[in-house]
Amino acid sequence: MTKFSDLNLNPKVLKAIDEAGYESPTPIQAGAIPPALEGKDVLGIAQTGTGKTASFTLPLITQLARGRARARMPRSLVLCPTRELAAQVAENFDTYAKYVKLTKALLIGGVSFKEQDLLIDKGVDVLIATPGRLLDHFERGKLILNDVKVMVVDEADRMLDMGFIPDIERIFGLTPFTRQTLFFSATMAPEIERITNTFLSAPERIEVARQATTGENIAQGVVMFKGSRRDREASEKRKLLRALIDAEGEKCTNAIVFCNRKVDVDIVAKSLKKYGYDAAPIHGDLDQSQRTRTLDGFREGTLRFLVASDVAARGLDVPAVSHVFNFDVPSHAEDYVHRIGRTGRAGRDGKAMMICIPRDEKNLADIEKLVQREIPRMDNPLKSDKPEKTSGGTGAKTEDPPKKTRSRSRKKDEAETQQIANGTPEEAPKRSRGRRGSGGGADKSDRGGNKVVGLGDHTPEFIGLSFKERIAG
Ligand code: AMP
Repeated sequence: MTKFSDLNLNPKVLKAIDEAGYESPTPIQAGAIPPALEGKDVLGIAQTGTGKTASFTLPLITQLARGRARARMPRSLVLCPTRELAAQVAENFDTYAKYVKLTKALLIGGVSFKEQDLLIDKGVDVLIATPGRLLDHFERGKLILNDVKVMVVDEADRMLDMGFIPDIERIFGLTPFTRQTLFFSATMAPEIERITNTFLSAPERIEVARQATTGENIAQGVVMFKGSRRDREASEKRKLLRALIDAEGEKCTNAIVFCNRKVDVDIVAKSLKKYGYDAAPIHGDLDQSQRTRTLDGFREGTLRFLVASDVAARGLDVPAVSHVFNFDVPSHAEDYVHRIGRTGRAGRDGKAMMICIPRDEKNLADIEKLVQREIPRMDNPLKSDKPEKTSGGTGAKTEDPPKKTRSRSRKKDEAETQQIANGTPEEAPKRSRGRRGSGGGADKSDRGGNKVVGLGDHTPEFIGLSFKERIAG
């Protein structure tokens, strides 16, 4: 097995790694560090959780340890798709570079230009930035990219999703063509392939197995759910989410709840809070200080439920999450892999549950095709108990809000649902109303012990098994 000491890293970097408690390099590190130190271009196909950040940060620090940056002329660039990811890379950099005298600046939105300008003016060795912010600084004439020796592109596939590829191409064009490029992506979409063919020179390609497709230590399940009425579906879904959380009881120490849209992130977080769950939202429209506060709280364990969008959560390093709840089926199958990869890290057991409404069944099928397994169907926990009270006592109020409050809250739920429908007409289901009548709704499909929701008359055999049996199978 490769050891860090075999990798030709700067001894001061080795000391910092040792103090971080890392015993040996992960496969992406063992594969990417040697060619990176030789000055070769690297194409790393790896996702978060594989140790990819250190696989470019460690050689970068080693290479830059000699020499100094000139004013406004950074010696290296690390481009990240989101502020959080950039901040995380900066944190990693601080950890590994603590015994090396290097300067860095973090250029992300939500932080004042003035502060950032001051740092750049002094000269920085490592500039960690989101593409838009970097170009803003460049256009203001504050930044010269002619001295960039190493350029890192992290999470290129997410850059693609977010429409940053033109910015990345532009930044490539602004840096010297003699630069070294370290390029990382979880997947190789054709557009990413094109970029790497254009801007990388004879790269060393290192691909590491995606962790979640095999994630045997992650128990997965999906509840097929149909609202009793279209206008109640969203609030009933939130109720189902609470029931799923409660059913896990103490086992659910902390969780990320994923929603597809920012508006739902806010609504679900608010709704969970209203019902006494310790929850907070994170998505791109929230200001940076709030996002940082929320994340810190979640990392430190003072916040139990992080309600997130894919973009905000991508690349976040949260070490131990007991559960992932997919409030929505993600519309990109790849995102499912990323989402559930947040739990069951480092060999721990994890659990990932998802709610699937009829119009998401196609997306569910895409996910199952991608991960090459069937996600076990779970019983709807609301089907077995009489009232909606739950016994989990997982930090939530043990009783539901009183009747009066509830009728008010239902009105509010419906208004919220309306707001969602109005906000995103493209997501309105084309055939949901009246399909198979309204009788297939969650509340009416209780058949005693055998609870089937949203599947009409076609009940696959595995539905008869309990969740545990299906997972064991
Ligand atoms: P990343 O894939 O870069 O987001 O890293 C995921 C997590 O793995 C981070 O918490 C790192 O601190 C940790 N990590 C990175 N490299 C190693 C290593 N060689 N041994 C143990 N943990 C590591």
